[in-house]
Formats: sequence, structure tokens, C-alpha cells
Amino acid sequence: MRPYILAETNWKAVKETKFELAVLPWGATEAHNYHLPYGTDNFESDYLAAKSAGLAWDKGAKVIVLPTMPFGVNTGQSDIYLDINLNPSTQFAILCDIIEVLNRQEIFKLLIFNSHGGNNWKSMVRELGLKYPKMFICVSNWYQSLDKKKYFDEPGDHADEMETSLMLYLKPEFVLPKKDWGEGKEKKNKIKAFSEGWVWAERKWSQITEDTGIGNPKKATKEKGERFYKDVCLKMAKLFIEICKADLENLYE
Ligand SMILES: [Zn+2]
Repeated sequence: MRPYILAETNWKAVKETKFELAVLPWGATEAHNYHLPYGTDNFESDYLAAKSAGLAWDKGAKVIVLPTMPFGVNTGQSDIYLDINLNPSTQFAILCDIIEVLNRQEIFKLLIFNSHGGNNWKSMVRELGLKYPKMFICVSNWYQSLDKKKYFDEPGDHADEMETSLMLYLKPEFVLPKKDWGEGKEKKNKIKAFSEGWVWAERKWSQITEDTGIGNPKKATKEKGERFYKDVCLKMAKLFIEICKADLENLYE
């Protein structure tokens, strides 16, 4: 029973604690190549947020991890069987309700612990920041917190070597045997400007990859997953501690 995980702790403990920072893991439910579970993003954020919060808690940070939101924005995967889409406007409404509670109860720091590339938070955070001026709302992408090249050989961004390694470490019982791993080959837009990153259109997922993956998972190992997991947690824990300690009236130097 971890006192920093809301789903596990209880009223007796919670009512005695003044929490500084709420962490909201937010994933997605979607196909991850042939071999990883639909809940991959949720398992990743569950484990990473909990471990990071534990490290921060041990150093005195009063952090509380909210239950992971299991559905994310999957507007580009509408034709992939059982990918469950939450429209951005629905996501905004849910986030707004959660912030309403935190604001009323004077937990003024919120970190959205994002685990899914299709969730875009900046415009929502801008609007909610205006609506709740006492709230400090920030967003992290754990998968961008470290230089992946130092941990993995193959690049990718969905069910790739990194995600497969993490799941081999965290939930090996839910990873199919290697013979079932697709190549995660990505087709690029014929218009070059899109690859250069300064023009954007939503990718029609079923047209850019055969197996739903982007990034070849074949060099994934449990050991790589463990090393990456532990380093991400250390970095995240440091962030949690810094946000807890931060004086919101005096953030800049
Ligand atoms: Zn994923």
C-alpha cells in the first residue's frame, strides 16, 4: 500500500497529508505492432509514474499519483480494430474536471505524465491555465526525457525497440515471442516537407505501417528496458522533487 498512489491509499492516510503535486498518467488503448498489448502506453505510464513518485516520496516530496487515464486521442487510427479514440474535446473536458477538483482542494501543482504521442496538451494547458490562474499545470513526455540513442540501436516511435524492451522488462507475460514481431516499417509522405518536420498533417496510421508499429523492435532486450526504465525514473523523480519545492511566485532566474 503505497501512500503516494491514490488508487492504493485510503482516506485515513490521505486526510492527514498535504499533497504538493498531483501526477496524472495518461496513456492510450491501441494496437502496438503484432506483439505488444493494447495497454502498452498505460502499463508504461503506470510503472514509470509509480516508481518515480516512490523515489521522490522517499526524499520528502509530497506527490500523489492519480489513476492512469486509459484512453487517449487516436483520431488517426479509426480503422484499426479496437483502437479506442477519445476526441481532444472529450480529453479537454475530463482534464478540466480533474483540475477543478485539484484547484478547489488547493493542490495547485499538476504534472500530466503523458505516455502517448497522439495526446496534445499545449493548447489545453494554455486555456486551463487562464481559467485556473492558481494552478501550475505542466506536461511531460517520459519517452523524450533521455537520449534514446544511448540506450537503443533502432529509432522508432511506436511499438519500437524502446517500447518492446520496456515491456520485456515490465510485463514479459504480455509480449508475444520474437517470431511474431513485425518490422515496424514506416512509409513516409511523398511530399518531402512533411519529413522535414515543419509541415504537419495527421498520419493515416493504416497507410503508413503494415503491422501498426513504427520502428523495428528486433534488437529489443529486457536488459535495455531495465536500464532505460531506471534512468527515466531517476530523472522523473528529480523533476517531481523540483516541482514540489518550486515557489510558483518565483520560478524564473
Ligand atoms: Zn506506445
